Amino acid sequence: MAVNFMRSLLLAAVSFAVCSVLAIPTNSSLERRARAQVYTRCSVPNTVALTFDDGPYIYLKDIVNALDNAGAKGTFFFNGNNYDCIYSQAGADRVKYAYSHGHQVASHTWSHKDLTTLSSDKIHDEMWKVEQALVKITGANPAFMRPRNLWELQQPGSRCLGCSWAISGYLGFRDSVGASVQTSKNLYNNIINKHPSTILALNHETYETTAHQVLPYAIQRLKSAGYRLVTLAECVGKPPYQSVVAPKARDSTWHC
Ligand SMILES: [Zn+2]
Repeated sequence: MAVNFMRSLLLAAVSFAVCSVLAIPTNSSLERRARAQVYTRCSVPNTVALTFDDGPYIYLKDIVNALDNAGAKGTFFFNGNNYDCIYSQAGADRVKYAYSHGHQVASHTWSHKDLTTLSSDKIHDEMWKVEQALVKITGANPAFMRPRNLWELQQPGSRCLGCSWAISGYLGFRDSVGASVQTSKNLYNNIINKHPSTILALNHETYETTAHQVLPYAIQRLKSAGYRLVTLAECVGKPPYQSVVAPKARDSTWHC
C-alpha cells in the first residue's frame, strides 16, 4: 500500500516537459541496447508528440478517440503489469485499440520498477517481458521505451551507471507532481505561447482529468497554433518498431 501510495504521489495528473522527455530505442540484444540512442526532443520542425505513460488503463479509448477526432496521433508507453495486466481481456483490447487506430505503442517496462534498484538480469526481464506482450498482442516489437525515474539514472553513484545498459546518456525530466487541471492547461498555454519548433509532452493516461479535460483542451490549442500532432517516432524521424509480424492468438502464456 505504501509503495502504491508513493507511486500515486509521484505520478502527476499531467506531467509536462519540453525538449527533455526521454525515450530510447529498444532492442532484444543487450549489446545493441547499450549503444541505444537517447532522444530528448523532437527533431522534425512543427511537430508535437503527445505521449502517454502507465497504461493500458480505463481511459485509453477516450484518449484515442480524442486524438482520432482531431486527426492527431499519440504514443503510448505501456507497462505489462502496473495498473492492470496487459494480458487481461480489457488490457489487451486497449493495446489493440491504440495500435489499430494508428497510434504508436512503446515500452514503459514490465512492472514500472525503478531500474536503478535492479540487477542487470532483472532489468532485462523488465524490458523483454513487455516487448513480448506487445508482439503477441499487436505483432509490433517496439523500437522505443521510456523507463521511470530517468533523473535517478544519471545521478553520481547510481548503480546502473556501471552496468551494461549505457544509461549514462540520459538526461533528467521533471514530472509536475499533482498538477491541477488548470495548472496543466497553463503549462500547455505557456509553451504554446512561446511557440518552440517542436514539443514533446508527457502525460499519464491513468488520470480521468487528463483524458477528459486537459487533453482535449491541449489538442485544440496545439492545432490552432499550427502544430502537427504526430507519433514520437515521426517527430524524431525514426521507425516506430523493430519489426512487425502478425499478432498472436490468445493462449496460456497470456498472463501476468
Ligand atoms: Zn510511469
